[in-house]
Amino acid sequence: MLYWDLDGVLRILGSYVLGYEPENWHDTYNGKTIIEIVNEHPELCATCPESEYLPIIHEKLNDIIILTNQLDDWIPFTEIWLRRHVKIPYDVVYTKSSKHKLGFLKNGDILVEDFPGFQNYNNIALITRRYNEHLNVPCRISSLIDLRRLIDSHETT
Ligand SMILES: [Mg+2]
Repeated sequence: MLYWDLDGVLRILGSYVLGYEPENWHDTYNGKTIIEIVNEHPELCATCPESEYLPIIHEKLNDIIILTNQLDDWIPFTEIWLRRHVKIPYDVVYTKSSKHKLGFLKNGDILVEDFPGFQNYNNIALITRRYNEHLNVPCRISSLIDLRRLIDSHETT
């Protein structure tokens, strides 16, 4: 089974808030972290742009399951975003931590993610972003072709 992270994978939130893709996951803008900025303006969760990968997902999959860490105040805006942008049926699970996410995965499952802080990447296909380029991982997605290949090799019935 393929699972999908939201931010940095289907939509661009952090880099949109900062105005650039940071090399450091913990980069700040005017001294505020991305989480602090989005907490002040949770409507950013409704207005942030799609990622470059979303069209491939629409093209190749019939439905998706999204696992995403969202703070409670963000969720209503994230729901708006999902309704506006995701054109195929989806389930969304609001997780609370990276550990919580990994807990969903069974042998053979793959989670498409951009997060640089997992304890292991055995079940992760890592979307290459500047803030995770330094990691040595078994599976990277660095182009639309890479994502097509991943989906083809995990095709579900
Ligand atoms: Mg993410």
